[in-house]
Amino acid sequence: MKKVIIIGAGFAGTTIAYLLKQEGYDCTVIEKKDVIGGGCRTHFFGGHPFTYGPRPYYGYSQKIFNWIDSFVKLRKMPLYLLSYVEKDNRFYNYPIHEDDINQMPDKEEILEELAQRDNSKEPDNFETYWIQRVGKRLYDKFVNTYSKKMWQIESNKQLDTFNWSAKDEPIQKGSKQVYKDSIIAYPYNKDGYNQYFEKMLEGSTLIKNNGVKKCNFDKKEVCLEDGTTLTYDLLISSMPIEELCENKLGELPYIGRDFIKFVLPTNTIFPEGVKFCHYTGEEPYTRIVEYKQLTYHEAEDTLLVMELPSNKNKLYPYMIKKYINRAQEYIDSLPEEVYSIGRLGTYKYSTIEQTISQCFEAYTKITGKSIDGIENEFYKIGDIKEIKSRK
Ligand SMILES: Cc1cc2nc3c(=O)[nH]c(=O)nc-3n(C[C@H](O)[C@H](O)[C@H](O)COP(=O)(O)OP(=O)(O)OC[C@H]3O[C@@H](n4cnc5c(N)ncnc54)[C@H](O)[C@@H]3O)c2cc1C
Repeated sequence: MKKVIIIGAGFAGTTIAYLLKQEGYDCTVIEKKDVIGGGCRTHFFGGHPFTYGPRPYYGYSQKIFNWIDSFVKLRKMPLYLLSYVEKDNRFYNYPIHEDDINQMPDKEEILEELAQRDNSKEPDNFETYWIQRVGKRLYDKFVNTYSKKMWQIESNKQLDTFNWSAKDEPIQKGSKQVYKDSIIAYPYNKDGYNQYFEKMLEGSTLIKNNGVKKCNFDKKEVCLEDGTTLTYDLLISSMPIEELCENKLGELPYIGRDFIKFVLPTNTIFPEGVKFCHYTGEEPYTRIVEYKQLTYHEAEDTLLVMELPSNKNKLYPYMIKKYINRAQEYIDSLPEEVYSIGRLGTYKYSTIEQTISQCFEAYTKITGKSIDGIENEFYKIGDIKEIKSRK
């Protein structure tokens, strides 16, 4: 029986463990924390379920939705979010909506900028992308400071790679729902996706609270924090790719978050359907999430979690070509029996849906088999044209 070592017990590690276990592989999953689920694990505070950062399922693949739903039932829901623009002293819908523009104090100037937009050339950085798309005033209201704060950068020009085209319709009309063409859902279970992770690990060996410290690709060995050494025929990793390769081509930067939890003595705070609010100005926080709006948890009080940019954890890879290329070099340097998958394993801004698609892709490469073509269900978020043509 082939021995597989899987690093990380988030969506990536647990899903690939399940898929390979079904094929008779002997899977051992190694998780450095004392709980499974990675970033999508549901924790509790004051009885309220929450995740570190809101993690609704969103995407475009009915097949991947059905896959998760067959293990933990998902409740489809509309998603609304608001952006607070302090200098206008107002919350606006996000994505930017034409009804809100009509109420902005500088409406005339904004409409003029929108009429004069020139998006004939593809933009080469995040700032130009946004200015070409919505003009300087709307960029300043919604994106400029927010993005610098989110990424802890001096200039949005540093972000030189992104998947969206400036030619998409920039201003929403009609419904104010976010990602209108996609599926948005969250588990009905009080413990969110947790039972998914447990089911995915049935039949595999789990070693938790004991991270992988070092991998020796020549000897096909991994060394754990407690000093244990394990051998493998196949190694599948969802730990940060540069850590897997001991930073031999240089570091990869990330931005993380500090999460501040607070319970307030009222049933709900946000308007119905609004799951989170973004703060676009000089506030130190980027987002406040009201978890009841996702979990539908019943209680007399409500849990809010405020997110502050931080260097204490690795959550968001940077959209900078130099680092994205470096990550690819790392991936290309791996021996054929080593796979790096998942969000940090690929240094991609990937969603739950995209992560699961990556697992099926790895499964197909390893076994030569396909389950319902799920390995091809990697849809880019925001690239509406591509999504529509692939549907
Ligand atoms: C703040 C935030 C909000 C998000 N919101 C959404 C959302 O709304 N919708 C959506 O679809 N996606 C969202 N995502 C993305 C989604 O969470 C990821 O796609 C998903 O968690 C990726 O799963 P993963 O297994 O690759 O990574 P993770 O969930 O990060 O799991 C990796 C696991 O590996 C473990 N690990 C790391 N290093 C080692 C080591 N050396 N040894 C052993 N174990 C190790 C970690 O402890 C962790 O458990 C969000 C991401 C972030 C950061």
